[in-house]
Amino acid sequence: MKFTYKAYNLQLKHTFTIATYSRTFTPIVLVELIYENFIGYGEASMPPYLGESHESALAFLSKIDLSTFTDPLSDYEKIISYINSVAEGNMAAKAAVDIALHDLIGKIANKPLWHYWNIDARQMPETSCTIGIDTPDVIRTKVAEAESFYILKVKLGSSNDKGLIETIRTCTSKPLYIDANQGWKNVKEAIAFSRWLYDQGALLIEQPFDKYDLESHRQLKEKQILPIIADESFQRLTDLPKLQDAFDGVNIKLMKCGGLYEARKIISEARNLNLQLMFGCMSETSCAIQAAATLAPLCDYIDLDGPYLVSNNPFVTTPLVDGKIQLSNEPGLGLKKQN
Ligand code: MG
Repeated sequence: MKFTYKAYNLQLKHTFTIATYSRTFTPIVLVELIYENFIGYGEASMPPYLGESHESALAFLSKIDLSTFTDPLSDYEKIISYINSVAEGNMAAKAAVDIALHDLIGKIANKPLWHYWNIDARQMPETSCTIGIDTPDVIRTKVAEAESFYILKVKLGSSNDKGLIETIRTCTSKPLYIDANQGWKNVKEAIAFSRWLYDQGALLIEQPFDKYDLESHRQLKEKQILPIIADESFQRLTDLPKLQDAFDGVNIKLMKCGGLYEARKIISEARNLNLQLMFGCMSETSCAIQAAATLAPLCDYIDLDGPYLVSNNPFVTTPLVDGKIQLSNEPGLGLKKQN
């Protein structure tokens, strides 16, 4: 097996602002894993706040030597554990190789990956579209652009959270996922505000408080106003047990957990712990999004809007049908490169 990789900047249609920072593009690395006549596509997406970069990902990938693996299907587990053994961290870079390996395996088996794993594609939830913090005019534009989405995910944690929701409510009655990105400080205020958000048609709240402040999350969860979902507090499989009391569910992202191999384990273990599941994304091309979408039918909430918010997706963007991402019937992830 051989593989190639290249750095790429994924341009956002709108400057993206959340509680803690703004940006106009996201550095990603595109990977191709080659075996006989098959090519598996993979992707690492590295929003700067997570600590990975083009430099770190390229340095990690340059250390990988897959030439000793002769059969991706029978060497599957060995390849995954080899990738994890090359260096600590580098989760997005690891996810790139993991995604490419799974695309390749589906292609070799001549089955869509969801079919290869016996996942019921009919159980696909609707995906939300993220609306970042912005001026009222831009918010209204973004809501209009999100026409084909049935759910909106609203980033809160600015000084004008109520005003932002009120602006959205002047132009749509779609249900809302709320993502505070650790922006809230006070439990009492959060309880009152959550009740108001519930009345405004919110369905859940993601990461209201600081990622280490499990006690505030536990106190808000206890009120059972809306499901409380861990994002920044949750990275990997090993985090699940400590989050069980503080959250109702967790947001899985391939770039946090290192790819589909661990994501499947998280799904199974989270269900054992009675946790709800969201599958989310960074700013990503259709490559990582179609990989995540493969597991989406096993989850409760889907936030896989990546390719719909960028202007230079190197793959063909799958259109939504009834607010849902469509899984391909082609082998692997069924990706097509843009001409
Ligand atoms: Mg989040």
